[in-house]
Amino acid sequence: MVLLSYQKQKHSQDREIVNAILMNGSWINPKKGYLEAAKYLSKLGFIEFEISYFVICANELDLDFPDVYDSDCKNQIIIAHDFNEDCDDLSCEDCGRYILPNTYKKQRSLVLSIKLNIEKTVSYFESLLAGLIWQKAGEGVYHISFQNRIVSIVIPVLCTDTSYLTADRLRINPTVLITLGTRDLKLLLNLYTISMADLICKHETLKEVLLTAVEKGIPELLPNVSLQALNYYPYVPLQYAQPIPPEKILQLQIQGNNICINNIEVIDKHSKSGNIFFILLEQFWQDFKEGISKEQYKALSVGEIANRIGNIFDVEQQIRKPINRMQKNITEKLAKTSGLNVKRDDVIQTLPWSAMSGKEYGYRLNPFILIFRK
Ligand SMILES: [Zn+2]
Repeated sequence: MVLLSYQKQKHSQDREIVNAILMNGSWINPKKGYLEAAKYLSKLGFIEFEISYFVICANELDLDFPDVYDSDCKNQIIIAHDFNEDCDDLSCEDCGRYILPNTYKKQRSLVLSIKLNIEKTVSYFESLLAGLIWQKAGEGVYHISFQNRIVSIVIPVLCTDTSYLTADRLRINPTVLITLGTRDLKLLLNLYTISMADLICKHETLKEVLLTAVEKGIPELLPNVSLQALNYYPYVPLQYAQPIPPEKILQLQIQGNNICINNIEVIDKHSKSGNIFFILLEQFWQDFKEGISKEQYKALSVGEIANRIGNIFDVEQQIRKPINRMQKNITEKLAKTSGLNVKRDDVIQTLPWSAMSGKEYGYRLNPFILIFRK
């Protein structure tokens, strides 16, 4: 049994893998053992995972590489595991070319994506505290009465009040830091640190950890270190203030001949791309006027856009390709001109178009991010 073998073997290699993937993240062609560890952790409920595959548009290891007209197109194109060339289509959204992944023996990369189940992690850890006298001071912060001392256990990933992570508060009691996933921790204190994987893989019991914590006592500041005065490590006010997550908003404006985002010209309104953009804008206004929820804003297929523009002979070349180019150009232009972190879908969103099969896509202006300015 896989599950038991992890617990019994105590192989440090297995524990290292469990530790590495016990976090939100994605791994391309993960190392040996990662998939098995993901199945193990998912069975226990600590994570949810997904496996997907992609091919690279222009990959010199593929047989179609000599025929590719844009050899710099490194777009990663998601491909179904059971892709069948006879009935499935595949094309590159960046350069618009059709791809025959089987005929040209295109290399497939595997992506392992992991989502940590926070609730399960918390309930697992709290189950280890059974029989002890303990108190939860805040999310990810526990005070445990052990051998006439109070030991603090801090799980930084779960901590919502960062003041618990300041040197002042970490030096009140003997303290243990429990990490999830491999992270580069730069500590100012000689803080006793273990990983959640150590507990899950039964490398150490919580009692052993508490004993070591009491033995080590209150963490000391590291000798011969000083705080960096620049804002690399921002200071934390000790009085707790609720952080407000920033909301991403982009302003859409028409200025003269240009369609602008945050005052930056992104599309010429008289160009072919401009025509397509206005079709999407009209649909957006229609949905806006109807007062429907943002989720229901309609995505238009390339065929629908072509019908509304009229006189279109090749929807791939005349509609889809310009849309993909607009998505790319807007992202690049805003990043280059203003340093804004704009994602491909922030202005023109690509969505599965419900009226056809799940493989066909439609486009709409992103109702969650765009606002309009006169
Ligand atoms: Zn491409």
